[in-house]
Amino acid sequence: MNKKTKFKDKLAVELIRTGLVDPNKVAMAIEIRENENSQRKALGERRAQRNLAQILVQDFRIDHYLVFNVIASLYGFREITLADEDYSESRIEYIRKMFDPLPRALQEYMIRNKIIVLRYDKDRPYRINIAAADPTDRTIPDITRALGVQSYEVFYVKLKSLSALMEKVFPPENVFLKEIEKQEFEFSYEDMEDEIDETSIEAEINKSLLVNLAEGMLIEAVRRGASDIHIIPAGSNRTEINIRIDGTLRSWHIQEGVRPEAIAAVIKDRSKNVDRFERDSAQDGFIQRKIDDHMIRYRVSVIPIQGSEVQNKFESIVIRILDDRKVISDLDKLGFQGIAKEFFIKAISKPQGMIIVTGPTGSGKSTTLIAALSYIMRPEINVLTVEDPVEYIIRGARQLKISYKMDFEQALRAVLRHDPDVVMVGEIRDKETAETAIKMANTGHLTFSTLHTNDAPSAVSRLYKMGIETFLIAYAINIIIAQRLVRRLCDKCKRPMKDKDSKLLKSLGFTEAELDNLIVYEPVGCGACHGGYKGRLAIHETLYFSKQIRRLIFEASKDINEEAIKEQAVKEGMITLRDACRERMKQGLTSIEELIHVTSED
Ligand SMILES: [Zn+2]
Repeated sequence: MNKKTKFKDKLAVELIRTGLVDPNKVAMAIEIRENENSQRKALGERRAQRNLAQILVQDFRIDHYLVFNVIASLYGFREITLADEDYSESRIEYIRKMFDPLPRALQEYMIRNKIIVLRYDKDRPYRINIAAADPTDRTIPDITRALGVQSYEVFYVKLKSLSALMEKVFPPENVFLKEIEKQEFEFSYEDMEDEIDETSIEAEINKSLLVNLAEGMLIEAVRRGASDIHIIPAGSNRTEINIRIDGTLRSWHIQEGVRPEAIAAVIKDRSKNVDRFERDSAQDGFIQRKIDDHMIRYRVSVIPIQGSEVQNKFESIVIRILDDRKVISDLDKLGFQGIAKEFFIKAISKPQGMIIVTGPTGSGKSTTLIAALSYIMRPEINVLTVEDPVEYIIRGARQLKISYKMDFEQALRAVLRHDPDVVMVGEIRDKETAETAIKMANTGHLTFSTLHTNDAPSAVSRLYKMGIETFLIAYAINIIIAQRLVRRLCDKCKRPMKDKDSKLLKSLGFTEAELDNLIVYEPVGCGACHGGYKGRLAIHETLYFSKQIRRLIFEASKDINEEAIKEQAVKEGMITLRDACRERMKQGLTSIEELIHVTSED
């Protein structure tokens, strides 16, 4: 992109002037808008064109509030915040009534785009107040026309608050689950033979109950923000469906009166790449659905498991939900504390070298990698990724597709011949991957990858034990980041503990002086959370490869001394995972329980 590109768009100019959005991204977004516009014209389409703000939010995952806050002030819209009273039953009833006189299509548009008629102006009854997350929305005049009022004022309200209000006014429907409520099903089985009776399963899966259950489950899990769905056979006529939210599995639905084989068949039927009739081997597939106007991908894993009776052919199914909206492309939102963020930015801003993120499965490693990639992404650089499988679509990167025709190792070799600047290798699994990744890092490429280790220093030993020479480890790596997710206490219900256990707190590393001022919060549980917790926070330990750290590793003759590395790193400002968690506890964001959990892994 030409650095001198002149921006004519008022919003573009403002976003760049304030440094809120990278000029390259703005330029790309403008290009997309122009392309869409000419496409629309060529096809003679009448549908509304996406504006710059929408493209930045939808395609580049720029924070909605950031962009629309600028728009509101740029065009002189007043911002208001909703009060608790606005969510009261009577207010909600009133707002719902304001929708009644409007044409159906307009209602649907308003629900989708979060536009609400708040009230008639109390001083001027011919005037209405409208709240919108995008105050420049072009349909707003249609609303006033349909209501027959003369004038109106549009207020800007944060998308988050408006969405919460809209959900109360019109709770999102799950038509599939509604269907289930209407039906009553009783299945009887006369045959309890040894073999699976394909015809009887066929008959069962065609019942709409199961189709509704499967589709309803896919929708509901996304709306609740779950990361995984588990479908587990629990007897000849019973299947349990659990969903994982904020890292914890909870029961969602128990289906009785249907054979688990039939439920499995319905899900397998909907999964690409999965053979419904195969019940003895592990299979991986995927499903794609458009939910609430957003494309969601699901990765399906099927494995055969032992049933209690001989005739059972049970399979456990786990569905991972890949919702791109959850991807964070803003480094600030990753939650790096203090110097950790400086280290991280310094490491990823170098032209070459390795960035390794370590942590157990589900610790948010890919989120960190994607945010790092988004930070450095520019049209001038070629970003390639090798992941098996691809988890999230990263705009601007070419993500190699692994299949039985091209495996992980082949893809890795192909990448080197594809003129990369930046490469992300999903995971260092063995010596071969490690060697290739290090080779790329040492030949002028910025290389991102992950490893499964508990903390940052032990990643060094892991590489050494894989058979990588110490001088290669010492000079190829820029930074190793160890990461964990801890549960965040619910703001609405957390409460200070009356008697804090000083002995326990001291054993967790709090000093006498810290204890004096420390308020320890404990989880309580309310309607807005799950058991006193809501959402999760990342904590990091960043081992930056300084001269001294490199020398320590390079000079290690026989074994890597993790303690010495850690000691030196702490001297240079590294915050350990335990310290990072303790910091979060001091801020009242997490609990003793979570600190113990992190600490017990040390
Ligand atoms: Zn709560």
